[in-house]
Amino acid sequence: MALTGIAIYKLLPKTNCKKCGFPTCLAFAMQLAQKKVELSKCPDVSEEAKQMLEGAAAPPIKLATVGVGEDAIKAGEETVLFRHEDKFTNPCGIVIKLTDNLDEAALNERLEQIGKLHWTRVGMEIFVNGVALVNASGDAGTFKAAAQKVAGGPAKNVVLVSENADNLIAAAEAIKDSRPLLHGANKDNFQKLGEFCGKNKLPLAVSGESLEEIAELTPKLKELGVDEMVIVPAGKGVKECMHELTKLRRMAIKKAFRPVGYPTIVDASVGAADELEQIANAGIYAAKYAGIVMLDISEAWQVLPLLTMRQNIYTNPQKPIQVDQKLYEVGEPDENSPVMFTTNFSLTYFSVEGEVEASRVPSYILAVDTEGLSVLTAYSGDKLNEKTVAKAIAATGLEGKVKHRKLIIPGLVAVMSGKLEEETGWEILVGPKEASYIPKYLKEIWK
Ligand code: SF4
Repeated sequence: MALTGIAIYKLLPKTNCKKCGFPTCLAFAMQLAQKKVELSKCPDVSEEAKQMLEGAAAPPIKLATVGVGEDAIKAGEETVLFRHEDKFTNPCGIVIKLTDNLDEAALNERLEQIGKLHWTRVGMEIFVNGVALVNASGDAGTFKAAAQKVAGGPAKNVVLVSENADNLIAAAEAIKDSRPLLHGANKDNFQKLGEFCGKNKLPLAVSGESLEEIAELTPKLKELGVDEMVIVPAGKGVKECMHELTKLRRMAIKKAFRPVGYPTIVDASVGAADELEQIANAGIYAAKYAGIVMLDISEAWQVLPLLTMRQNIYTNPQKPIQVDQKLYEVGEPDENSPVMFTTNFSLTYFSVEGEVEASRVPSYILAVDTEGLSVLTAYSGDKLNEKTVAKAIAATGLEGKVKHRKLIIPGLVAVMSGKLEEETGWEILVGPKEASYIPKYLKEIWK
């Protein structure tokens, strides 16, 4: 469990030398307890204290990496039960199930389709994270050939699913450079799979009839050298599975029970009566507390809501996603183009940008730094006022970009007009309250 500031303080040198940038060791300890600074900022901490502090600071749920490179799935490292306590760390991976008995053309087609499940939303890339290849044929050669095909295709990461340890090992051996997750080990085959994954440093999914059985298997696998594990909850169907996911998270975080301190993988299709229920199940698992969710649906309309929801869950609730304070150009604006401002809250900014783009009127958008707050919230909190806007105009060199001195402001803050005009000397035009009216405004009202 996490150490308190006082407990950390007792392990520090207590010289108040300030080399860490804090006035006292106690102040540094308090920040360290809240994970706001790194221990490495204190150059004088003893090796012994370092080991104790690093051990205590290790996340209660270990990391498991599936795949390689920056698009690899990182599951685990979570430290809280609820998002209001702190942010969730690693967005759950979403992988699409394919079977190895598809013929070559069908497999290629599905892989191509999965590769296209990729969008840009509020300036961030959201996409399906890979493929879970199921050994439906039961044949080792077929599974291996399909695994090679999948690993060499557009799917970013691979989960290999088979109940047959030999088939899993044969397929994993062929694509081990792409670091697949082997799904999975159980009480009957764990020795063989544990030895293989331990030797090749590959992640291994572990299942059992109950959580107790899984908790007995993970230490044995650890002894075989398997460092990265993923737990397959024993429950069948969404209710049981949710119960187990919650139990696992609580045991790992509240009780620091290391044998279950691993991320999880669930199959959203189990127990789902239809596609809609599968989407709902997957949404529930993404929220609480799956590390990887497998789906056997892959149409864009089925997947996009899940990716959007995941993106929202895994943002930092204490730090809204934001764009830089900057003068953005939409199209190819010139010295006569309209200029409007909005805040640097990503959702607000990209809503405005999307509508300006749709209007096809080349424009400038001034994103004012409001620490990522939306227009009304920023205005109410005095982060958006005539001074912050004037400062943004000066900082972005807007005056040199246009000949006119007309600024379109969000309709929601029409009340700012007078003071803003006085502060900036610009003529203030009150724009629409809703971003969706921007195209009409730019085409019909802007002059
Ligand atoms: S650098 Fe280390 S010893 Fe110095 S004040 Fe900071 S915590 Fe204390």
